[in-house]
Amino acid sequence: MEHCILQIVLDTPLDSSFDYRWPLRETGAEAGAPAAPGLPQIGQLALVPFGRQQVMGLIVGISDRTEVPADKLKDALEVRSQLTALPEAWLELCRFAADYYQRPLGEVALPALPKNLRTAKVSSLERNLKKVAKDAVAQDSNPNPEPALNAGQQQAVDAIASAQKFSPHLLYGVTGSGKTEVYLQAAAKVLAQSPDAQVLILVPEINLTPQLEKHLRQRFSGIQIATLHSGMAEGERVRHWLSAHLGQARIVLGTRLAILASLPNLKMIVIDEEHDPSYKQQEGLRYSARDLAVWRARQLDIPVVLGSATPSLESWLHAKTLRYRKLSLAERAVKDAVLPVVKIINTEHEKPSEGLTQRLVTAIRLRLEKGEQSLLFLNRRGYSPVIACDACGWISNCTRCTAHLVMHKLDRKLRCHHCGLEQRIPRSCPTCGNIDLQPLGRGTQRIEESLAQIFPGARVFRIDADSTRLKGSAEAAFDTVHRGEVDILIGTQMVAKGHDFKNLTLVAALNPDSALFSQDYRASERLFAQLMQVAGRAGRAARKEDGNLSEVLIQTRYPDHPLYHALMAHDYDSFANDLLEEREQAGMPPFIYQALLRAEAKQLQIALDFLHQAAALATDPGITVNDPIPMTMTRVANVDRAQLLVESTSRPALQYFVKNWISDLRALKSRVKWSVEIDPVDI
Ligand code: ADP
Ligand code: ZN
Ligand code: ZN
Repeated sequence: MEHCILQIVLDTPLDSSFDYRWPLRETGAEAGAPAAPGLPQIGQLALVPFGRQQVMGLIVGISDRTEVPADKLKDALEVRSQLTALPEAWLELCRFAADYYQRPLGEVALPALPKNLRTAKVSSLERNLKKVAKDAVAQDSNPNPEPALNAGQQQAVDAIASAQKFSPHLLYGVTGSGKTEVYLQAAAKVLAQSPDAQVLILVPEINLTPQLEKHLRQRFSGIQIATLHSGMAEGERVRHWLSAHLGQARIVLGTRLAILASLPNLKMIVIDEEHDPSYKQQEGLRYSARDLAVWRARQLDIPVVLGSATPSLESWLHAKTLRYRKLSLAERAVKDAVLPVVKIINTEHEKPSEGLTQRLVTAIRLRLEKGEQSLLFLNRRGYSPVIACDACGWISNCTRCTAHLVMHKLDRKLRCHHCGLEQRIPRSCPTCGNIDLQPLGRGTQRIEESLAQIFPGARVFRIDADSTRLKGSAEAAFDTVHRGEVDILIGTQMVAKGHDFKNLTLVAALNPDSALFSQDYRASERLFAQLMQVAGRAGRAARKEDGNLSEVLIQTRYPDHPLYHALMAHDYDSFANDLLEEREQAGMPPFIYQALLRAEAKQLQIALDFLHQAAALATDPGITVNDPIPMTMTRVANVDRAQLLVESTSRPALQYFVKNWISDLRALKSRVKWSVEIDPVDI
C-alpha cells in the first residue's frame, strides 16, 4: 500500500467528512497491527487544501479506499503528529453534541480547540509543547490547611468521593454554606485515588470570581491547575489547553467552553452555580455546558456535582424524581453567621426620591456611621434608559433596533445596548426643538450621582459593564471593595456573583419588579436566583452576638408578590415547587422539550413567510407546532427576526423530528438566514 485515505472533518456547515490521500512511508503494515510511528491516527489534526485555502481538520477515520475519483482526490499537506491524538471519548462527546444540537461534527469539534492549534505553524506548536513540558509546578511552602467540615459538608464530600460510578449530585446549599469547601475536599479525595486523575470545575465567570482560583492554588500546592476561559490570550490558552490534554494539569478550572476540553483522565466534574444562564452558549453551537457535563460524566461513569443555592428547575425536578441525589447544606458555614434579614419596602407608600426611599437612605447612613459597607443592586447600566421630550412625546429610540437608546451622561452619548449605535445627546428635541429633554428612569450612573449628592463624604463606587471595560479592571474594582476602600457599592448583576465581602452588612435591590411581569416565563426564576445571590453577599462573616444582623432591603411596588415572600423566608424549596407545579400544568419545560426555529430577514414578512412554510412541513404526530411570531425584540441592527417554537413531550421524538425537518428546510434553499436551537432558554 502506498497511500491511505484520511477521513477528515472541517469547520464547515457541510455535514460530512472529506477524504484526503496520505502517502505511507512505512510499508508492510498489516491490518490491525499497531500503528507504526509516522502513521496518522484518528484524533490527530491534519492540514489540508480546501477550495483555495489550507485549513486544519480533524482525522475521524482512516481507510484504504474512497469513493472520490482519483483525479479529484487531493493530498493532505501535513499531519500534526507532534500532538497526541485527541482521545476517543472526546470525539464521542463531540459526536454526541453534534447530533443532539443538530450541527455538523466539524463545526463542534474544531471550534472546541484553541484557535492557535488550528492556525499556527508547527514550529509554534513545538515551542508550546516544550514550554508546557518545562512548566514546573509551583510548590507552595505553606499550603492552606483543610478546615474541619461541618456535618452537612462531610456527608456531601463522602457521598461524592465514594461514588465510583456515574452519579449526579445536586449540592443544594444556601449562600455562604461552604459549597466551595465541599468541591475542594471532594476533589482532593478524587485526586488522591489515582496519580493521574483529573478534575474539571466549571464556573459561570472566572473574572468575576477570582477567589476560587486563589483557593485552589493555595490548597493544591504541587498540583498543576489549568484555567480555560474566553478572556485568555491565545498563546496562554493553548498552553493551558495542552497541559489538560497531556494529563499534566490535574485540576482544570474553566467557563462553559471548558466542558469541551480534552481531559484524558477525567474523574469528576463540578458545576458551580449550575443555574447560571451563562452556561448556555447563545450563538453558533447553542449548547448547555451543564447538560453536556452530565452527559460526559455518564459517558465516563464518574461523579458530577451541580452546586447552587437556587438550582435550575431542570435539576430540581431531577432531584425530586431521584435521578440526581440531593445533598443539602442548610446553614452558613462560618460559626454563628446567619442569613440576612430580608425586608420589603413598599414604594407605593414610601415614594423614592432619586430612586432611593428614605428608609434605604437611613439604612445606608447607619452603615456609614458603623464603618460597614452597603451594596445597591440595579440591573440597568447607563444613566437613564431613555430620554424624552415632554412637549411632543419624542423618545430616544434606536433607528436600527426595537429598543431605546440609553443615555450615558459621562461621555454625553446615547447608546444602543443591542447594536452599539452611538449618538451625541441632542441639545434639543430632534422633532420639535424643545431644549428641555428629560432623562426617564434610572441606571447605575444616575444612582451613583444621587448617592454622591446625598452622602458627600462617602466613597461611592460603581461596578458594571461600563466601568470595567478594560481587561483586568473588574478584578481591580473588586479588590478595591475587598480592601475596604469603598463605602457604598452600586452595580448590576456583576456584583451578585460569588464575592465574599467581609464587611458588607446592607444589600438593597432598587428596581427588581420588571422581571415579575416579563413574557419570558423564566424571568421570575432568574430574578429569584439573582436576588438570592445578591442578598447572599450580606453578612457572610457577621455574627449573631455582635447584634449586627445584616439586612436586605427590596424596594418594590408589589410587596405581596409570592416571589418576595419566598425570598423573605429564604425558602427556595416552596418557590421552586410552586413554579414546577405551574410549569407542569401549563405544559412547559422541564416537563416538555422544545426546539426553536429562528429566521432573520431584512423585512419581517419575509422571515414570517419562511416560518409559515416551515410550519407546514412539520406534520409529525406528537409534535406541537406553535404559530410563527416576531421575536420580542423584533429588529436588531436593521435585521428583523421571527421565531417558531415546536414542542414535544418526548425528547427522542423531538430529536427525530428536528433532524428530518432540518433537511427539509435546507431543501427549501431559502435566502432567509435561519437556525434551529435545541432546548432554547431565551424565547
Ligand atoms: P458558598 O459557596 O456556599 O456560598 P463559601 O464556600 O463561599 O459558600 O463559604 C462561605 C464561607 O464559609 C467562606 O468564608 C469559607 O471559608 C467558610 N467556610 C466554609 N466551610 C467552612 C467550615 N467547615 N468551617 C469554617 N468556615 C467554613
Ligand atoms: Zn419634542
Ligand atoms: Zn440598536
